[in-house]
Amino acid sequence: MTHWLCVLVQTPAHASLGSVLSYRSESLLTPGTLVRVPLGKRDTLGVVWDAASAQATGEFDPEKIRSVAGTLDGISPLSTAWQQLVTFASQYYQRSIGEVALAALPPQLRELSPVQIQRRLKRGKPVKTSSDIEAASTVLAAKDAAAPDLSPEQANALQQIDANPGPFLLFGATGSGKTEVYLRAVQELLARDPHAQALVMVPEINLTPQLEARFSARFTPLYGPDTVVSLHSGMTNPQRLKSWLSAHSSAARIVLGTRMAVFASMPQLRLIVVDEEHDPSYKSGEGARYSARDMAVYRGKLEGAKVVLGSATPSLESWHHSRPAAEGGRYLRLHMPSRIGASAALPLVRRVDMNHQPRHAVFSIPLLEAIKDRVARGEQSMVFLNRRGYAPVLHCAECGWKSECPHCSAFRVFHKIDRTLRCHHCGFTERVPRACPTCGNPDIAPMGRGTERLEEHLAELLADVRRPNTISDAFPQGESVRVARIDADTTRLKGELQSQLAAVHAGDVDVLVGTQMIAKGHDFRRITLVAAINPDGALFSSDFRAPERLFSLLMQAAGRSGRDASLGARSEVWIQTFQPAHPLYAALKQHDYPRFASTQLTERAQAGLPPFTAQALVRAEAREQDVAQAFLNAASASVQSDMAHWAEWEPVLSQITLYPAVPMAIQRVANIERAQMLVESPSRAALQQFLGAWQAVLHATRQGPEGKGLIRWAIDVDPLAI
Ligand code: ADP
Ligand code: ZN
Ligand code: ZN
Repeated sequence: MTHWLCVLVQTPAHASLGSVLSYRSESLLTPGTLVRVPLGKRDTLGVVWDAASAQATGEFDPEKIRSVAGTLDGISPLSTAWQQLVTFASQYYQRSIGEVALAALPPQLRELSPVQIQRRLKRGKPVKTSSDIEAASTVLAAKDAAAPDLSPEQANALQQIDANPGPFLLFGATGSGKTEVYLRAVQELLARDPHAQALVMVPEINLTPQLEARFSARFTPLYGPDTVVSLHSGMTNPQRLKSWLSAHSSAARIVLGTRMAVFASMPQLRLIVVDEEHDPSYKSGEGARYSARDMAVYRGKLEGAKVVLGSATPSLESWHHSRPAAEGGRYLRLHMPSRIGASAALPLVRRVDMNHQPRHAVFSIPLLEAIKDRVARGEQSMVFLNRRGYAPVLHCAECGWKSECPHCSAFRVFHKIDRTLRCHHCGFTERVPRACPTCGNPDIAPMGRGTERLEEHLAELLADVRRPNTISDAFPQGESVRVARIDADTTRLKGELQSQLAAVHAGDVDVLVGTQMIAKGHDFRRITLVAAINPDGALFSSDFRAPERLFSLLMQAAGRSGRDASLGARSEVWIQTFQPAHPLYAALKQHDYPRFASTQLTERAQAGLPPFTAQALVRAEAREQDVAQAFLNAASASVQSDMAHWAEWEPVLSQITLYPAVPMAIQRVANIERAQMLVESPSRAALQQFLGAWQAVLHATRQGPEGKGLIRWAIDVDPLAI
C-alpha cells in the first residue's frame, strides 16, 4: 500500500519549493527516519517528519509525487525530542525547518550513500580523534583520574544540582573548581543511570583538547575508551560522523563539543553543561543564528535533562534569569566565590592613570618596571591588546592618504611581518606600496598599533634587560628576554596554537603578547602579571554589550594570573586607562561581578535594552545602500498598510517597535552594501508572533518592486551586536 510522507530536505535558502516535501513510500516510515529522496536530478538526504507538525509546501498532486529512494538502515530514527528541538529552533530563529534539521546532522550523512554508511557502521567503534589529546591525557591522567575531595562550595553546588530541577547558573570564580563540579555531576549521573548521556559544551575548539583530556582521564578508566567523544568543526567529516553515530547509538556516554553539539542526537540525554556560558561564540553567525546556550536550556526542559550554565562572569541575561525566584528568577544560582587551594588569593588589580604618563607612551613607566621585575624573578607576564597586525592603518602625512580597503568601508591593516596590507573583513591583501599611491611620498607611516607592533616595541624596551637562568636549562645565564606573540596570525596553521602554548608552559617565554585569544581558559601556571594595554575603547562603544564583554575579558585574564600556588600571592592585573575612576574598573578591582552586573542591569532597564526587551535585526544586502534600506523600509511600511488593518494583530503590533533602516556599522564588505532594521518588543512572545507573520511580508516585498536589486536578507533573533 502507498503511504504519503512529509520529508525535510535542504533546499536553497528562500527557494519557492520550501523545505518540507511530499514523497510516497511502500512502507510506513516513522518520523525521524533518515531517507534518501530524489530532488531534481539528484538524490539527497531527507528526514521523515510528522505530517501533523509540518505542512508540506507545493501542490499535492499524487501523479507527480516521487518515491523515497531508500532508507538509511542501521541508523534508528531521530527521537521525538530531537524533532521538537529542531522545530523550535526553526520557528524561534525564523529559518526553514529543513535547513535547521539538515544543518544539525553531520555533513557526511548527507554525502554518503546508504551503502557507504552501512560500511562505516560495520567498521565499528569510534577511535580517538587526535594525538594531541592522547599526549595531553597522559599528562593530566595522574591528576584527574582520581577525583579530589570536594571543597565545601563544590559539595554544596553538587548537592543543589542533585536536589533541584534547575536550570542552574554556576557562578564560580576562575579556579574555583567549576570543571570539577561538571566532572562530578557527570560521574554521579553515569553511576546512577547505566544508560544516561551527558553533553558538555565549551565555547572554543581550542579549549576542547584540554577538556577532553580531563574527561577522558576521569572516565576512560571507569567506562572504557569509547565513553567520551567530541563534536566540533575542527574535526574532519569522517571523525564527526563517527562521533555523531556513537552518540546517536548511545554508545558514547559523554559528548564534548562546541555550539554545534547542542543539536547532537543523544537519545539518553540527562545532563547538559554549558561552560563559559557568557561567551559570544555560543551564538551562531550564519544560517539559523541560534544561541547554543539558549537552545541548551530549551533542550533541557524538553528532554528532562538538567542544565548547568557555568561562568565567572555570567551573561547579564543569565544573571538576570537567576535572580531570586521571589523576584521572578527562573534559574537557580549556585555561588563558588573561592579559588581552590593555596592560590586562593585573587590577583591585585592596579589601575595606571595614563593621564599622568608621558604622552603617546604605550607602556607606562610603572608597568614596564613591573614586567622587568617579573623577568628578573624568572616569572612570566602576559600583555594583551585586542587588535592584531602591526598597525590598523597606514597613513601619508603629506596628502592624507590612508590604507582604505577598496572593497569595504574599513581600513586595511598593516602586517609588517610579510609587508602586506590586509583587509580583515574581505581578506583583500596587497604588498605595502613603496610610496604613497596618491602623491608619491616615500614616507608613509603606521598609525596606531596592533599586537605585532606591541611585540616589537616591547622587545626593544626590554633589550637591555637580562634574565636569570631559572626558567629553563636550555638557555645559559644572562640571556635576553624572550617575547612571544599569540594571535590569529601566529596560529593559522593546525597545531600551532598548541605548540605555542606548550612553549609558554615549558617556560620558554618571558613575556607573552596577544589578543583575547590568550585571555581565555588556558591554564598558565607561572604567569604573575597580566596587563591590558588600552582597554578604554569599550567604555564608550556604541555597542551596549561592550562593557559586559570587557569586564568578562579582564576577569578571565585576571584568572590566568597566579594559578601556581607558590606565586598566587603576588600576582597582579594591570589596567592602563585614562578613566581610572570608571565604575567598571572599580568593580573589577574588587573582583565584584555582582556589583558590575547590577549597575549594568539598572542602566539596561532604564534604557529599555535586553534582557528587559526582546530584539531582532533584519539585515539586507545589495550593491547599493539605498536598495538595501528601501527594501527594509518597504517591508516595514507594509506592516502599517497591511497588518494594521487586521484587528487580531492590534494587541501584537501595539507592543512592537520597528526602527528605520540604517547602514550597518561596517557598511560595505566585499563591495556589498549592508543595512539593518531593529525590531523591539517588551514581550518576547509578541516579537515571536510578529516575526512569524512579518516573514511573509518580507518574502512578498522581496518579490515586489522594492526587492529589485536586493541580494539577500535574513533575520537575526536576539542579536549580539547591533
Ligand atoms: P575553574 O573551571 O572554576 O576555573 P577548575 O575546575 O579548572 O576551575 O579547577 C582549578 C584547579 O583546581 C584545577 O587544577 C583542578 O584540578 C583543581 N581542583 C578543582 N577542585 C579541586 C579540589 N576539590 N581539590 C583539589 N584540587 C581541585
Ligand atoms: Zn600621499
Ligand atoms: Zn575589504
